[in-house]
Amino acid sequence: MYYDPVEAMDRQALDELQVERLKQTIANARKSPFYKEHLAQVDAEAITSPADIVNLPFTTKDDLRSQYPYGLLTRPVDDFVRLHASSGTTGTPTAVFYTQSDLDRWADLMARSMYCCGCRRSDVLQNMSGYGLFTGGLGIHYGSERLGMLTVPAGAGNTKRQIKLIRDFNVSVLHIIPSFALYFAQKVQEEGFETADMPWRIALIGAEPHTEEARQKIEEMMNIKAYNSYGLSEMNGPGVAFECECQQGMHLWEDAYIAEIIDPETGEHVAEGEVGELVMTTITREGMPLIRYRTRDLTRFLPGQCECGRTHRRIDRIAGRADDMMILKGVNIYPMQIEQCLLAMPEVGQNYLIELLTEGVTDQLKVRVEIKEEYFVEDMRALQGLQKKIAKNLCNEILLTPRVELCQHDSIPKGEGKAVRVIDNRKK
Ligand code: ADP
Ligand code: ZN
Repeated sequence: MYYDPVEAMDRQALDELQVERLKQTIANARKSPFYKEHLAQVDAEAITSPADIVNLPFTTKDDLRSQYPYGLLTRPVDDFVRLHASSGTTGTPTAVFYTQSDLDRWADLMARSMYCCGCRRSDVLQNMSGYGLFTGGLGIHYGSERLGMLTVPAGAGNTKRQIKLIRDFNVSVLHIIPSFALYFAQKVQEEGFETADMPWRIALIGAEPHTEEARQKIEEMMNIKAYNSYGLSEMNGPGVAFECECQQGMHLWEDAYIAEIIDPETGEHVAEGEVGELVMTTITREGMPLIRYRTRDLTRFLPGQCECGRTHRRIDRIAGRADDMMILKGVNIYPMQIEQCLLAMPEVGQNYLIELLTEGVTDQLKVRVEIKEEYFVEDMRALQGLQKKIAKNLCNEILLTPRVELCQHDSIPKGEGKAVRVIDNRKK
């Protein structure tokens, strides 16, 4: 029934396991320069239940940035075999490092996650997410191999070739980003294939926020069962929380992580079942443990027991982010990346506005840009050239091409106080 008996562990035993592993984690974390100081006031012996974790300080993304690259490591760099890094191309990046044992545990969690939604060793998995620094590539890949599935490392893009590989190798499981899945379903039909005739049965979808409606659309259009997959590179990558076959929220693997949900303003736990910011602690990672890491992802614990019998608590699909990062087509975009790029161009004026909207089944990014008076000419070709140039520059920065709308100087409304940079008009 389960990949690992720990998935159905009795609650009290799970709590005890968490306490024991949390104490070990604190002791281990103190070997890193950052936590040696950060945890100086902490008395690990006073921890008797998982709830006592509230007495530990938070770790933030800024801490990761300030410690970049090695400040959070508990052992010499020689002991590490892999790193992944956030996709931020500007600003200080963050990196996560793995020892061989960390990679093994991650692969186990990943294999467990895939088994839990029905994948078996007789399946063939095609990984359609980008490889490289992004954890959705190698993370899914090694998990799939760990489960014993024949694994096709297709990578992202190239629709025709994806279809050929799927048909040639009888691919039964896809790992695919939800926004791409909607596009892909259409492409398959345009290429003259019935999705019902394709060999697939399971899609693992994740890496970006998506609605239940999107999942249902993917399931209908592709004739597939789609399961939500949640993870973040700071917590290894995918394999943190995963839907089981019941499709009623994602089991968060509590033998590997302690999860909390807090009010992002006060830092206090929200009431049971309420939405807040997910805070995560690794309790099995040796090389780079993270304690009370503020994910900035918004979700809630789902009440009650899952019918599958797994005891690990479930979280609801991610409602969004506590801060302003935008994820489009699997790419993370910060408003400041756009600003930096725009304001570096001589033609661009003072103000701009980012709009997210839904066109058909996919999300689009529209950037409204104020142009300096002298460039706002009557020559249509000149304006179109400028529009293209801005779009191209933005694409170099944010890795996707936005729609650019040139606006007359001072035409974008400005409010008082802080500027509103992003308007989200996507259909929820
Ligand atoms: P980066 O691209 O910077 O490396 P990650 O790959 O670590 O970032 O992205 C992790 C983030 O992606 C999460 O914090 C969350 O916001 C988002 N994410 C991942 N999986 C899901 C999911 N299933 N649903 C919604 N959002 C998700
Ligand atoms: Zn379940």
